[in-house]
Amino acid sequence: MKLKVLGPHGGELPGCRSTCFLVDGRLSLDAGSLTSTLPLDELVKVDDILLTHSHFDHVKDLPLMADVLVGRRDKPVTVHSNTECIATLKKNLFNNVLWPDFTAIPTRRDPVFKLKAFKAGATVKVGAYQVKSVPVTHPVESCGFVISHGGSTLAISGDTGPTERFWKVLNGVKELEVLLLECSFPNELQELADISGHFTPRTLEQELEKFDRRGCEVLLYHLKPAFVEQLKREVRHLPVHVLELDEEYEF
Ligand SMILES: [Zn+2]
Ligand SMILES: [Zn+2]
Repeated sequence: MKLKVLGPHGGELPGCRSTCFLVDGRLSLDAGSLTSTLPLDELVKVDDILLTHSHFDHVKDLPLMADVLVGRRDKPVTVHSNTECIATLKKNLFNNVLWPDFTAIPTRRDPVFKLKAFKAGATVKVGAYQVKSVPVTHPVESCGFVISHGGSTLAISGDTGPTERFWKVLNGVKELEVLLLECSFPNELQELADISGHFTPRTLEQELEKFDRRGCEVLLYHLKPAFVEQLKREVRHLPVHVLELDEEYEF
């Protein structure tokens, strides 16, 4: 698998891009920075988008992507997520008020986007990838994923506060190469992190104790743009890597 870091942050500022990872050029994990990073010839190659949850920093580029793709592809892009997230996109985004309903444009039979819901916790096929979804701890239904293809496996936590289920699933994976793990707020904002379902370096350190790591690379993302430097200082003593824009991994 080839992994490209389009957006490793939990928001946007110059030098920071909202959560988005490109797998093998064709599967996007979240959609926080697709149109803001990919040129058109690469954007049209994205067949599937897998969303962890409905929050704005993760779906931000969906409407702009739909607009750019009209008439550019032979088949719809499929947007996969849990039932709650898909319902939110239908009701609040592609609702012909905030943005046109691109699940019926140019035609209902052959639209730009197809929305496909799964039950949080289900194992589903997303393009060529096997995806196990795991409900995590967040104010809206949010999923972490274990994604496998061609003998390689990668996991992403989604936005989450402390969790047991996700670690239990990861500890049962035979060979996990890469874990994308959220860390959002500095330690001084512990209370905010707790109520909003996020990690600080302190809770992250406690969570890592639950992880049977076996050589897996742990890559941090979803740093809130206003705290990037502070967060980097606070995780310096931990065996993790803080992701930067445009980094690429192959495994
Ligand atoms: Zn987020
Ligand atoms: Zn969120």
